[in-house]
Amino acid sequence: MTDALPARRLLLVHAHPDDEVTGTGATMAHYAATGAHVTLVTCTLGEEGEIHVPELAQLEAAQADQLGGYRLVELSRACAELGVTDHRFLGGAGRYRDSGMMGLPTNDHERAFWRADLDEAAAHLVEIIREIKPQVMITYDPNGFYGHPDHIQAHRVAMRAAELAGADAPQKIYWTAMPLSVLRDGMDAFRELSDNPFAGVENVEDLPFGHADDEIAARMDGTDYYQQKMAAMRAHATQIPDNSWLYGIAGDFGGEFMGVEYFTIAKGERGPGEGPHNWESDLFGGLGLEQPAGADEASR
Ligand SMILES: [Zn+2]
Repeated sequence: MTDALPARRLLLVHAHPDDEVTGTGATMAHYAATGAHVTLVTCTLGEEGEIHVPELAQLEAAQADQLGGYRLVELSRACAELGVTDHRFLGGAGRYRDSGMMGLPTNDHERAFWRADLDEAAAHLVEIIREIKPQVMITYDPNGFYGHPDHIQAHRVAMRAAELAGADAPQKIYWTAMPLSVLRDGMDAFRELSDNPFAGVENVEDLPFGHADDEIAARMDGTDYYQQKMAAMRAHATQIPDNSWLYGIAGDFGGEFMGVEYFTIAKGERGPGEGPHNWESDLFGGLGLEQPAGADEASR
């Protein structure tokens, strides 16, 4: 029943609660605020995450194994901060379990997402695609942005679902990415931070998620929504410690860094672009679904 939904519909497929914010939070907030329908599908509950809130340490998988249920609540708070109301878990909450980092015994858990049957997992997503008929989908690249098994699997499931959805498949598919120029600037700028995310990195080219600037298709300017992104990050308190470099960056550079998100395009034609690399500024560009005039102000 897409009749009742807004004209522009965006689907995001992420691996764990909190991935939606760090990689795509500003983009989600931007589209939610400008009248698009934003659907977030999270594939696992993130049961194997570390816990950065000391009072909650015993929720960990090796003890009470209740972190997943707690992160479900963190995720719904984060979505509320981003203005996103349509959030689902792939196959329902608890169907697939966080696989943990690559090579750990948790990869072999019977419900580990890493072990999921690809077509069965994709079928859950196809159901959602048929219901919403999103024109644009966002997920990770084949390496899952940085190699976590659940991120790689989320990529595979999303791409397989797009194949299986036939005529209902999204017309454009984007993968999260970082331009090398931004990584280089970041490396210089963060050199003095005590919690420097680039510590030990000699060459930004060695980072798994860097792309030459001309391989980037879209630059989403969500600086207006950067406060919402920060609030959504704070909602994931078990995962993002107060002293995280993410907050350090935010304090030093504000929306300039945290509010801007980049994508490569995996399916569909780029819409109109701007700047030296002709980057799109609207993921719906070229689809004849321009943002309704005044939508930005009207919805705030
Ligand atoms: Zn993740």
